[in-house]
Amino acid sequence: MYDIDTIRADFPILSREVNGKPLTYLDNGASAQKPKVVIDAITRAYAEEYSNVHRGLHFLSNLSTERYEAVRGTISKFLNTGDENTIVLNSGTTEGINLVAYGWAMPRFQPGDEIVLSVMEHHANIVPWHFLRERQGVVLKWVDVAADGSLDPQAVIDAIGPKTKLVAVTQCSNVLGTIVDVKSITQGAHAKGVPVLVDGSQGAVHMPVDVQDIGCDFYAITGHKLYGPTGSGAIYIRPERMAEMQPFLGGGDMIREVSKDRVIYNDPPMKFEAGTPGIVQIIGLGVALDYMMGLGLDNIASHEASLRAYAEQRFSGLNWLNIQGQAADKAAIFSFTMEGAAHPHDISTILDKRGVAVRAGHHCAGPLMDHLGVTATCRASFGLYNTTDEIDTLIDALELAHELFS
Ligand code: PLP
Repeated sequence: MYDIDTIRADFPILSREVNGKPLTYLDNGASAQKPKVVIDAITRAYAEEYSNVHRGLHFLSNLSTERYEAVRGTISKFLNTGDENTIVLNSGTTEGINLVAYGWAMPRFQPGDEIVLSVMEHHANIVPWHFLRERQGVVLKWVDVAADGSLDPQAVIDAIGPKTKLVAVTQCSNVLGTIVDVKSITQGAHAKGVPVLVDGSQGAVHMPVDVQDIGCDFYAITGHKLYGPTGSGAIYIRPERMAEMQPFLGGGDMIREVSKDRVIYNDPPMKFEAGTPGIVQIIGLGVALDYMMGLGLDNIASHEASLRAYAEQRFSGLNWLNIQGQAADKAAIFSFTMEGAAHPHDISTILDKRGVAVRAGHHCAGPLMDHLGVTATCRASFGLYNTTDEIDTLIDALELAHELFS
């Protein structure tokens, strides 16, 4: 059973006050809070078990290597990869997608080759592809979202032409909450011989993920949104694609032998993990994923679905609030603007006075902001520990903001 009070008690920060009010943390889309087990694991790793990994022969080095390497298996289980060697550990989605851009796409793509993207991608799944556009004449093909914020998988598949070399799409929009049918997109793209990269930064937070079922070639996650530490993450890479990749960063750990005139690389996935990694961050990520799996990924998803339903019901009474994105399949992420002159930054400031943390701005989604015809929105994004009471607090704070600004 999903006991929300017990779960909330696992997160020390949730009991603090902000501006004299109980914290209502609705900025999970930007970064989630950490349960005590993760905070304790970080402390234990530094206080009792810390050493550099892989290279040492002493007790602590072996212990931290064991702790660190075990996380590859945890992530593999979390994403159901079936093979932990498909997991490259890194600092987060940005690094993961840049690895694909530099290590796989850049050496292979020719001028005029195309990458198909949706307009609701995060800059982390846009700017690395702009590098290829600027440096090697690769063409970016954009697929619009429908009026309700949904993305038609067939529209993505139809955008794939003979020169398309990659489809790069998010599984869940960080702005609209739209959930994308990445499995159908992958099936359609593969039927045309085109690999698919899925940005799972938001998707993996809100639904159980099975990369073997999706069938995608790359699936990137970022630890700090998964209730883990900042600077932790991973990317799943299908073995065939991994075999095609060149290393991106060079340095220690990713090599087996280096001499003055040659270098022999380590086997994948370590070939793509140069330098001392974020040892403690990755260990913390493993604990965070175990925590989520302990609660049950389906249970988290159904808790969040009930939050979504309740929020939608409450929002429907506010005719001065424009909710951006009303796709049938969406996570509990709500972007909105308020009728009248109130700027999202001003709304967010009023909410903050009530202890309500939301994000205001472009959410690193420039093309989507252009598509929506806005420069910024406010975003309330829910996580596994949020409650319907907190939705009521949000609504009260929004009503106050509306009164002030109308
Ligand atoms: N993709 C999406 C959909 C995101 O929401 C984010 C973070 O906001 C990222 C990518 C980038 O993640 P990170 O900054 O942790 O690399």
